[in-house]
Amino acid sequence: MEYAFFEGKIVPVENANINIKTNSFHYGTAVFEGIRAYWNEKEQQLYILFAREHYERLLKNARAMFMNLPYTADELVEITKEILRKSEIRWDVYIRPIAYFKDLALTPKLIGFTPDVAIYTYNFGRYLDTSKGIRVKVSSWRRNDDNSIPSRWKVAGAYVNSALAKTEALLGGYDEAIMLNQHGFIAEGSGENIFLIRGAKAITPSYSEHILEGITRSAVIKLLKKELLVEVEERPVARSELYIADELFMTGTAAEVTPIIEVDNRKVGSGEVGTITRELQELYFNAVRGNIERYKVWLTPVYEK
Ligand code: PMP
Repeated sequence: MEYAFFEGKIVPVENANINIKTNSFHYGTAVFEGIRAYWNEKEQQLYILFAREHYERLLKNARAMFMNLPYTADELVEITKEILRKSEIRWDVYIRPIAYFKDLALTPKLIGFTPDVAIYTYNFGRYLDTSKGIRVKVSSWRRNDDNSIPSRWKVAGAYVNSALAKTEALLGGYDEAIMLNQHGFIAEGSGENIFLIRGAKAITPSYSEHILEGITRSAVIKLLKKELLVEVEERPVARSELYIADELFMTGTAAEVTPIIEVDNRKVGSGEVGTITRELQELYFNAVRGNIERYKVWLTPVYEK
């Protein structure tokens, strides 16, 4: 049986349902997270990746939205472990925590309401094709400006912007969209950060480019610098740079490290997955599954040994 955390209790997921009058359902005033847990067959262990970092981001975003949740990050990690154990999950799984205003009231505001948090699991599998790579298109939809709907926070309403861009890309026969910010520089994908490789350097839009402060982005920057000895530049990136990059890839909890092999109908490099991207993927996939001892600090084991 699959369990979820709902209204302060762990319950069968079928019983975790909100009322249609729920305030945040109408106005997108919820904040959420996407977390992955990886099953390590050899160790018979399930590892949650960056559990604390995700819950700290959730709590920070929640506070910014005037949601004072009655839980600490550590408590939310413990609750998550309990759901996973109770559901007896022994495979790769995606975890979705969401904080929202549960009041049955119709005003788009953030104060005077009662926040709550729900957590459930989802069998995602691969989000994008990490082995062959993907074809992407620069979207006609611009990324939310941070001064309109903060792109920096993982706020539900901002995903209308993502859904428009992703849908346009899918209808055009592409796998994913890249959005420019209001200033015309590269921001990010609909649910991923983006990296370019030019020569021996990696380049990624800086935090000031109206992007989400991706947890995978930070992890990948570390792997590039420490393990692959690749210099990383965080700066504004022009659209035209995409077309002359040697390699491109996207990062995200769902997307992991996804190579881009074509952008706006132009091959990236040779049109095959690039060598730095491949090396980085190998490192990332091994680290998140608990196969690299020094990166076990990224992981929270679920089952007691
Ligand atoms: N950008 C957007 C818009 C996203 O939704 C996500 C997924 N959370 C990311 C980037 C990647 O963030 P993370 O690595 O923290 O999952």
